[in-house]
Amino acid sequence: MTEENAMTGGGLEMPGKVREFTERLPGIIFQFHRGLDGHMHFPYLAGSGTGLPGIDRDAMSQDARHMLDRLDEDDYPKLMAAIERSARWHVPIATKFRIRLAPGRSRWVALRAQPEDAQTGILWHGLMIDITEQMAEEARLRRLSDTDDLTGLANRRKLMAKLDQEISRCNRHGSPLSLMLIDLDHFKRVNDTWGHLQGDQVLVELARLCRAVLREEDTIARLGGEEFAVILPTTPLVRSRPLAKRLQQRIGEHAFGIEPGQITVSIGLAEYRPGEPRDVLIERADRCLYAAKHQGRNRVVS
Ligand code: GH3
Ligand code: MG
Ligand code: MG
Repeated sequence: MTEENAMTGGGLEMPGKVREFTERLPGIIFQFHRGLDGHMHFPYLAGSGTGLPGIDRDAMSQDARHMLDRLDEDDYPKLMAAIERSARWHVPIATKFRIRLAPGRSRWVALRAQPEDAQTGILWHGLMIDITEQMAEEARLRRLSDTDDLTGLANRRKLMAKLDQEISRCNRHGSPLSLMLIDLDHFKRVNDTWGHLQGDQVLVELARLCRAVLREEDTIARLGGEEFAVILPTTPLVRSRPLAKRLQQRIGEHAFGIEPGQITVSIGLAEYRPGEPRDVLIERADRCLYAAKHQGRNRVVS
């Protein structure tokens, strides 16, 4: 599919047609070459996707940096590592990255390429396709699967994932971490007195109140039913305890569309001990919650 082929004439009508066809493909087909000296360029580029605004196709065919310079800074090392791995082990590249087309406007691109040894270095044959819409849809679905329908808080699944993440950060950096378990007191009675719908509204309002009292970096989740949990990163017990106390008091004073004093919570609070498994932390907080219930409710136990 080179210029020479297309121009030899005679029976070689096809390459022209093929080129017309490839230029209309909604993506990019390419050859990517990395020389022995490390220089990278695109000897072949075709497809409608090569008309990227602000990226000159001829410049790219001379030097791949015209494109690589526009990669998202998180994705650049990822792509370079993928290229390196592919070159070293002769395995295909399958990756995705974000590329900046204009300030504040970037697109997601999926890349697949097959390496081949060449005398001058390594030559990849591949394709790139814009997957921005799919990525947005994926993010939307992920948000849905992480969210509690009623309150809009993180759900149990998300809480566990976040807790694992925070625990590993804790173990790496030795930063403190607290976990709060919150359970509404006598919530069955609230439902029985004011109805289930009003009960639901209390849960929604409680979520709002938690968001207002706690910090942006705290993860608030609904574990299910009338039970909630809060992850407090970088927070030792001496700081999470007054926070939990304040939350418990604010909830107790709040009207919740009923009347103040009708809704109270019991809170179990525990600080993470380096090295312990996630479930041991949850169990300790749960034991504290149980103790809070046992001691008469509407209180914090740590
Ligand atoms: P305790 O102080 O011991 O926690 O008493 P409780 O009544 O809150 O405890 P229990 O676990 O026995 O009952 C929880 C009640 O929460 C049962 C159920 O009616 C109510 N509940 C659970 N999920 C929901 C929900 O999504 N909406 C409403 N309105 N109520 C719920
Ligand atoms: Mg309960
Ligand atoms: Mg309860």
